[in-house]
Amino acid sequence: MLSITLIFAFIIIIIITTKLLAKTRMIDSLPLHTDIENHPPAHLPSCHAIWLDVPREELSALDEWCDEWLGADVINQSLVDSPTALPPGFNLPRHLWANLNHFRTGQGQCAANLVHWHKIPDPSCSCSAAKQTMGHIVND
Ligand SMILES: [Zn+2]
Repeated sequence: MLSITLIFAFIIIIIITTKLLAKTRMIDSLPLHTDIENHPPAHLPSCHAIWLDVPREELSALDEWCDEWLGADVINQSLVDSPTALPPGFNLPRHLWANLNHFRTGQGQCAANLVHWHKIPDPSCSCSAAKQTMGHIVND
């Protein structure tokens, strides 16, 4: 699961990387220019060097990132309507923001998750429900 902070970090990294690559390609005297334009072949099949992924000219880095975000298979992707807009509650104090996201994502400290994380043996709720999930705490 990707957190909102991580998503914004990805946006910033992509923008910086794209700008750095574009600038490096234009200026021959930069030391990185030779490394990027005449790079050695990848040694491992899993290696995905940044210079192999040339950004499309007609799209900005942000547009490209939005396309990638919308095309990715991310858990709870529906929680983020627009990856460029701050989600509701982003301005809350840290502990409230964290609790809100625990309930939004279903990844908080409920009995079902604690069993999944091997912290307790019984997933039942004190109200005698068979399984105490984050959804159960909020909705039932
Ligand atoms: Zn209950």
